[in-house]
Order: sequence, then C-alpha cells, then structure tokens
Amino acid sequence: MSAISLQIPFDVAKLREDFPVLKQTIHGKPLVYLDNAATAQKPQSVIDAIVKFYAVDCANIHRGVHELSQRSTKTYELTRAKVKKFLNALHQHEIIFVRGTTEGINLVTQTWGRKNVKAGDEIVIAGLEHHSNIVPWQMLCEETGAHLRVIPIDDRGDLILDEYAKLLNPRTRMVAIGHVSNALGTINPVRKIVEMAHGAGALTLVDGAQAVPHMKVDVQALDADFYAFSGHKLFGPTGIGVLYGKTDLLNAMPPYQGGGDMIRTVTFEKTTYNDLPYKFEAGTPDIAGGIGLGAAVDYVNHVGIDKIAAYEHELLLYGTEAVSRIPGLRIVGTAREKAAVISFVMEGIHPHDIGTVLDRMGIAVRTGHHCAQPVMDRYRIPATTRASFAFYNTTAEIDSLVAGLDKVKEIFS
Ligand SMILES: *Cc1c(COP(=O)(O)O)cnc(C)c1O
Repeated sequence: MSAISLQIPFDVAKLREDFPVLKQTIHGKPLVYLDNAATAQKPQSVIDAIVKFYAVDCANIHRGVHELSQRSTKTYELTRAKVKKFLNALHQHEIIFVRGTTEGINLVTQTWGRKNVKAGDEIVIAGLEHHSNIVPWQMLCEETGAHLRVIPIDDRGDLILDEYAKLLNPRTRMVAIGHVSNALGTINPVRKIVEMAHGAGALTLVDGAQAVPHMKVDVQALDADFYAFSGHKLFGPTGIGVLYGKTDLLNAMPPYQGGGDMIRTVTFEKTTYNDLPYKFEAGTPDIAGGIGLGAAVDYVNHVGIDKIAAYEHELLLYGTEAVSRIPGLRIVGTAREKAAVISFVMEGIHPHDIGTVLDRMGIAVRTGHHCAQPVMDRYRIPATTRASFAFYNTTAEIDSLVAGLDKVKEIFS
C-alpha cells in the first residue's frame, strides 16, 4: 500500500483516546468504525457533560428559581450561544432546538409551509436529498396542492445547475437543498444555489446534517434562510438538533407545537405566544441532549473544524485510491467537491453480504439505500456499501477495509 503522506499535522492517535467506544474489539478484531454518516461517536467530554447533568444538576429549565434549575438553565442556554457562534448566526434567538435535522425540516414545512404555500406554488429540492428533505415537502405539497420540482444530478453526482436555473420561476416558493449528500458525498454549491433562489424570489432551506460535522458552516455567508443539523452526527447526543432561521422569517411564522414554555399568557379565550426562540420550543426539551451538544461544539472547536476538513479530505483521497484498485469495485458518487464518503458497489456481490463479512472483521459500514432511494434509482442500483469517515479514522483503518474487501472477493468469487 503506497501511503499518502498526510500534509497537515494532526495527531489522530491522541484524538482517538477521547472516544471510549473506539477502544474495543468486535468479533475479536479492533473496531473500525466507518459509519459516521449514520451517527458519529461521542468523546468522553460529551458523555461527562450528560452524566454531570443527571448526577449533579438535574432540574427542569426556565421555570425554577432554585439553584439546580438555575444551573441547568444556564448550561442549556449556553449551548445556544455556542451554536450561534459555531454557525455564525446573527442572533442567539435564531437557534431553535429540535430533535434533529428531520424535525427541523418538518418544523419549517408545518409552520412556514402551511402558512405560505398555496396550490400551484412550487418547491424545489435536489435529486440527492435524504428522505427527510423529501417527504416533509411532499406532505406539504399534498396538503396544499403545490408541486415538487427536482434538480437532476449527473453521472458523477453533481447537481446540474443549468437545469436548476430552468426550474426557478415566480411560482417557486422554496428551494430546499442538502449541503452534503450522505449517500454520495457530493458537496453542493450552496452559496450559489441560495443566490439563484433569492434571485427568483424564493426562500432557501439547507439540510446541513452532513456538512456541520465536516466543514466550516457560516449561515450568514451562505445567506440561507433556514439551516438544519443533528447533534448526533456532530459527536453529540441523539435527540437534539438545531434549526437556524432568520429572525424576520421566524417571527412571521406561526408556532409549531402548543404547550408549556412556548406561551406568554394563557386563558381559555386567548393565548399569547412567547418570543423567539421559545415560541418554537413547547414542553420540556432534551435538556441533557442540549447540554451534551454544547460539549460537542466545544470539542469540535478544540480539534478545529478546518483541520478536520483538511484531514478528512486526505482520508478521502487515500481511501478512493485504495478501494479503486479492487477489481470489480465501482465507486458511486465522484463529485468534484466531495466529503469523506465512499459509496460503492462490487460486481456480483450484494451489499448486504459485503457488510456482513466486514462486520465479522470488526469493520462497521452501512449497506442499503442510505435513506436516499431516489439516488439509488438514479444509478439503477438497489443499494450501495458506504464507508463514511470522521476525523478519528486513520489510513490504517482504510487498509483494514481494503483487506476486508479482498476477503469479500475471495469468499464470493
Ligand atoms: C442523517 C441525515 C438526515 C436526518 O437526520 P436525523 O438526525 O435522522 O434527523 C437528514 N439529511 C441528511 C443529509 C442526513 O445525513
């Protein structure tokens, strides 16, 4: 194996020490975790923050005058400040806590969408969306009589921007686009897409689930109207995520769910709603999750998002070259701008069999349609095997993957 010498100083071995889950063997082999696009592992500092909440500070937030409630409220709200800075949002109240990317998108379709989308209007998405950026829009279209338009992708997995330009018209209300494709790794030119949408008078929503953990995201520079991501893909806990929205839009939107915390006054005649961000945060939230997300943002800042992006790019180059040498293996998704995701098919071997053999060797990959069935249809394949990387992965683990795939070939040919 010709090693690509890494161009940047990055002490992976030291960073791996922070992730307890990585220090184990699976079926007697060291765990090689290459399923980061499904969920990322958690550093000890995130686990500790969650444990500290339950062991020391546990209380409900916002409504208590007692010490524990003050503490939990402070730590929970501190995460909002951290996320605001991390995304470079203009205001802290533009950070709405939700369960994850999926809920963030549904919040927009259910509130902004129901209020603003009418029969005959059009919503534009792309041909490589995750199901969670397809189905909520389809549901909205069914309810309102609006139409869904889809930007096609080319053979490499790049969006065809000329076709996108043709889809835009005065009926276009929203362009909802994935920042990075979880199935193919394509990094979409979001700044350009947003600019074109705004030029046509449409709003934009960006599904940032696969972008935020891997590259610097600046919502003001992108000028996106909404941006959603999930905590668990950013090395934080499950059950917490963020919807960013521009103040004016959020203020003009009706509330999402009704309940405690989202109100100012309630009588049986009339209820008045709370200010942003609480207007969209009914009920007791995932307090521990929010606190864990704050610790995750701290951790990523400590490692450095630009270093993460640079290192992962080198992993992608190394991995692409390494698996490409396997006869009969074809990489699906070769976009010009790509995140560290390698989806592939092997001639005559079902992805499920590949995944099962690799698992016996301690290697965790994902097989299937990756919640992006239309992408699979586009390439006329039922499924792929996907190796998706995080900054704690190593070139040695890629070598293990290649050895595993050699074994797969041996067994099935
Ligand atoms: C994971 C993912 C989602 C959905 O995230 P949830 O955490 O399941 O809500 C949406 N879009 C993309 C691109 C994803 O990778």
